[in-house]
Amino acid sequence: MEYLSSRGKYSALSSAEVIKMGISPDGGLFVPDHIPSLDRSDFVLMEPMNYQERASKILSYYLTDFTIEEIEWCVNSAYNTVKFDDRSVAPLVKLDDNVYIQELWHGPTCAFKDMALQILPFLLNASMTKTEEKSEIVILVATSGDTGKAALEGFRDVAGTRIIVFYPEDGVSEIQKYQMITQEGANVYVAAVEGNFDNAQSGVKNIFGNPKFNSQLNSNQMKLSSANSINWGRLLPQIVYYVSAYLELRAKEKIKDEEKINIVVPTGNFGNILAAYYAGRMGVPINKLICASNSNNILTDFIRTGIYDTNREFKKTYSPSMDILISSNLERLLYEITEHDAEKISYWMQELKDKGRYAIDNQTHQRMGASFWADSCSEKETLETIEKVYRTKKYLLDTHTAVAVNVYNKYYAETKDDEMTIIASTASPFKFASSVAKAIMPAEILQGKNEFEILEILSKSTGIDIPRGIKNLDKKEIKHQTVTSPDQMEKTILTFLGLGG
Ligand SMILES: *Cc1c(COP(=O)(O)O)cnc(C)c1O
Repeated sequence: MEYLSSRGKYSALSSAEVIKMGISPDGGLFVPDHIPSLDRSDFVLMEPMNYQERASKILSYYLTDFTIEEIEWCVNSAYNTVKFDDRSVAPLVKLDDNVYIQELWHGPTCAFKDMALQILPFLLNASMTKTEEKSEIVILVATSGDTGKAALEGFRDVAGTRIIVFYPEDGVSEIQKYQMITQEGANVYVAAVEGNFDNAQSGVKNIFGNPKFNSQLNSNQMKLSSANSINWGRLLPQIVYYVSAYLELRAKEKIKDEEKINIVVPTGNFGNILAAYYAGRMGVPINKLICASNSNNILTDFIRTGIYDTNREFKKTYSPSMDILISSNLERLLYEITEHDAEKISYWMQELKDKGRYAIDNQTHQRMGASFWADSCSEKETLETIEKVYRTKKYLLDTHTAVAVNVYNKYYAETKDDEMTIIASTASPFKFASSVAKAIMPAEILQGKNEFEILEILSKSTGIDIPRGIKNLDKKEIKHQTVTSPDQMEKTILTFLGLGG
């Protein structure tokens, strides 16, 4: 299999090359030249497998330049009980007769980002060996909160790599911030950026696209790469858990052959739901992919109208990891549904850059509507959903997953579609403890308490243990205090790397 740029102006590459590069030099995202397809016999074969075996099988369809031993080494180094606190890696929990929650946050940093960022360093390491890479790889990350920590944890002390994370100064939760500024490791650097996530992400994208800056690094035996979901190596491992969830439902005889499922995903950068789309294109019988947004509901509008318009207010919400107006991975979706029309994609992305807005054609919009359904959830509804699900089901949702549950309820109310549904749960409720506590507890109890005291209160009152990745964070030493502005990011990087600046 080869990989193509969604803008069509770069040559086809192997998976090892695209994992190393992260983003295509023409500004596009790398996409597989075809989507491998699974049929009934593949599903029957994979049903009795465990998560690791399923992962190896699915990755092998895409990483055709890797040996099966290399793939198994990556998979087993990432998905084990040292790193994940649940043997099944991504367990399904029943919420209702036809609704299952897939908990994707049993990794070391308590968000679904671990599902990909635990394995990406091994995929990169194997890719570097395979391509006889001599340079050091510098991973550049813009984070809305969860990717940063997951990437730092995944790449810390990985030989031949360094990692630099930029997070929006006022755009992450207290716990997310502490997770990052206390990060240990000899090859890790963290800086806050003034502004919101889009400012940080645009800053990083500009650096990738700056030839002068890149050649300066190259002459120092360094190369940039990305651990954001623009990197194919980040997206690919996410396809696995959707296929696995489907197999699990089959194995438990909750669905029959050919019976379709819905998948609900709380969405920000469109990476996670795009992985579900790929799972569908591979053959998992999906009825609707339900795209759930918070009050930054640009994707709801886009899926409904075909117009993507960033000229709107950026809102800070209870679900900060979804506070995004520029969803990078839409570019891959559009490339797929236009059947690889790189010219159209380039035009729309140029419009987005110049005017902050683009409109897709009718046919593309209709095709999108065949696969996707979208709605959004207000701030008030987010807290109400957490409260109601906790009261009626004794299940504690985080704020992002609550957005998904709320939007699923709206979908069901509108369509009465009672097909089996999987809701992707993207974070542990403890990661967003103060909002979750606010939803289920009287305000007096929480008055004047800081985020870390609230963690304890939440744990006591629900009887759920604080996950080990979050416990005692406030007692750790603060190691990273740099604050920078979007136009000083290059300089900050050079300083971090010891290249002056
Ligand atoms: C990153 C994140 C999301 C959004 O996922 P995308 O792949 O960016 O759409 C949702 N919830 C949580 C908790 C996240 O960390």
